[in-house]
Amino acid sequence: MTIALRPTPLLAQAADAWYDGIADPVEQALSVLRWAGDTFGDEFAITSSMADGLLAHLAGRATPGVHVIFLDTGYHFAETLGTRDWISSVLPITLVNVQPEQSVAQQDLEFGARLHDRDPDLCCSLRKVQPLAQTLSGYVAWGSGVRRDESPTRADTKIVDWDAKREMIKFNPLAAWTQDDVDRYVAEHAIPVNPLFQLGYGSIGCAPCTRPVAPGEDPRAGRWAGRGKTECGIHS
Ligand code: SF4
Repeated sequence: MTIALRPTPLLAQAADAWYDGIADPVEQALSVLRWAGDTFGDEFAITSSMADGLLAHLAGRATPGVHVIFLDTGYHFAETLGTRDWISSVLPITLVNVQPEQSVAQQDLEFGARLHDRDPDLCCSLRKVQPLAQTLSGYVAWGSGVRRDESPTRADTKIVDWDAKREMIKFNPLAAWTQDDVDRYVAEHAIPVNPLFQLGYGSIGCAPCTRPVAPGEDPRAGRWAGRGKTECGIHS
């Protein structure tokens, strides 16, 4: 049953205080996702980069049929698209595959080839930020797999937050998870994982902006390496 509650900053703050108090990471994630689904129904969606099916698995357990948004930028590795198809075929979710307004060829015609090398902020805006904003306008709450331990810029991530830019509630059910928590859950539940991790990639985004990392290197160091950019803009 969906309970109609208006998403407000105060509601996000109260929910965060409640769910942040749950110590077990799996119980915490399932509880907050269940609440999101019960409260906002089809107006709640999660996003997934298809690096793995962890968040989609938890969301599907908590709220079967949950909408999972994938930003199909046109620049993904074949392995990522295969992981998307794997996840959507084995988990009880509804895939929402979002493509930018322009194909890569159309973007090249307007802005020149390899915009990602010359102006990655504009490229991310056109292929990720704007399509996500347009898609999320049909929802009142959204969730992502951001974790505090992924980077210093994510260290203060709340379980439930107010997304002031979009005036929505933002859920980060994995905020408190460690890499050990992730590895344990993935192994216990045979979660689909992007095969690129086995080739040394630590964090997976678009192919032109992602490289493998050396052992012990920051997993996100392979994203936009050498371009002074650490985030695509959808979480900031
Ligand atoms: Fe463009 Fe790279 Fe951003 Fe993908 S990650 S949208 S290729 S700049």
